[in-house]
Amino acid sequence: MNASLTAVFETRHQPTIEAFRRFVTGELEPLWEEFGESTPEHIPQDVKRHVRRRSAELGFYGAEFPEAVGGRGLPLTAVAVLRHLAGGSGCPLAPLALPGPEGPTPLLAHGTPEQQQRYLAPLVRAEKMRSLGLTEPLAGSDAYHLATRARRSGSDWVLNGHKIFLSNLEVVDFVLVFAATDEHGGPNSTAVFIVDTGTPGLTVRQSFQGMSGELLYELLLNDVRLPADAVLGGPEQAHLAVAHSMLSLPRGRVLTAADCNGLAEYALNLGLEHARRRVAFGRPVGTFQHVQEHLVTTRTELAASKLLTLACTHQADEYKELTSEDAAMAKITATELLKRAVDHALQVLGGRGWMKGHPLEYLYRYARMMPIVGGTTEIQKVIIAHALGLGSLAQGPAPGAPGRRAEEERLLPEVTV
Ligand SMILES: Cc1cc2nc3c(=O)[nH]c(=O)nc-3n(C[C@H](O)[C@H](O)[C@H](O)COP(=O)(O)OP(=O)(O)OC[C@H]3O[C@@H](n4cnc5c(N)ncnc54)[C@H](O)[C@@H]3O)c2cc1C
Repeated sequence: MNASLTAVFETRHQPTIEAFRRFVTGELEPLWEEFGESTPEHIPQDVKRHVRRRSAELGFYGAEFPEAVGGRGLPLTAVAVLRHLAGGSGCPLAPLALPGPEGPTPLLAHGTPEQQQRYLAPLVRAEKMRSLGLTEPLAGSDAYHLATRARRSGSDWVLNGHKIFLSNLEVVDFVLVFAATDEHGGPNSTAVFIVDTGTPGLTVRQSFQGMSGELLYELLLNDVRLPADAVLGGPEQAHLAVAHSMLSLPRGRVLTAADCNGLAEYALNLGLEHARRRVAFGRPVGTFQHVQEHLVTTRTELAASKLLTLACTHQADEYKELTSEDAAMAKITATELLKRAVDHALQVLGGRGWMKGHPLEYLYRYARMMPIVGGTTEIQKVIIAHALGLGSLAQGPAPGAPGRRAEEERLLPEVTV
């Protein structure tokens, strides 16, 4: 009998969970062993593609999307449990079997039926890849204060602007570009454009290498001409991009929390294994209270974080409601927990965990990105404060206006890889 604290959320999804576990242990772990690598920094694109396609074939990749676009309509709780399992397995190929920033996004579910078939369905089948073009040199968290402009030209749109930190840009088929139009005021002036990567006027200028090896790219848009139907949701929905993003973000944040919980569990298990085996002063180090403290703290925080994450997904599945506040609490809890969990485990391993190539050394760097992507920890706190009635984000000056200095561009790292 499964009597874990989270059994109430997981039991009904057990067949899916077991099937995914078999895929990880039966196919992905042996494939990973062939590499003889210890960290996921150098996985070739063709291997990543193989993992995604095989996972889609088996009905895991993109399974949360509706059948109409090739998914299975899998409940969010089941998806969260699979993501936890993938991170917790310690097999670096397992998280790649579920959608990341290259894959299907709920944002595209707001597309027209034609856009969903042309762009979302091939993403769900893992036949195409996409990137997201939101961040700009002068607009990160302040994401709807964009300098990238879209103006109408007859029935077409013409885009000009500058995007940074795009994931996977070198291999994607299209980019979802956020741009300001002059058609509506405030947040309603932002629209999302689906831009095929071969479109004239696009230039990839440089790439940045993240701490844990991820390449992020800079995209220039110079008079990029797009047809009317390139706007997400069609021309009449152009002004709803921010509203659609707000609806999509909480689900993504809760799934990020599930990823982090899984990775934290993996770190905990590495720490536990070492604490039981390694002997110092004639005893396993795990018998020392100071060492126990590291592992007990993670164990406790992880139980709380997992429960919060699954309570959010349960809310979404059963009551069709997932508030931004709840998702923000789950994301903060899990992403900050992961940083601490890896640090604790690394300390338990001593010098071994700190050595280049050890899974914990890699995770220490990888974990650091999680409180930044998908809305920083501070932005999650702003959301929670807003829900508590403590005020909302004040709008600062727009790019180019006094107070937004061009010199801010110099904040960009000048690293080309
Ligand atoms: C690995 C990785 C992958 C990424 N992939 C993509 C991608 O594919 N596409 C894309 O468009 N972008 C991507 N990004 C960019 C990412 O979305 C931004 O880095 C993130 O939104 C934060 O923006 P910023 O870095 O400009 O920081 P800023 O927004 O400049 O924030 C700087 C600091 O100020 C804080 N802050 C800002 N506003 C407030 C506020 N109102 N209240 C309190 N604190 C505040 C922030 O929390 C942060 O600590 C990626 C980033 C990383 C690290």
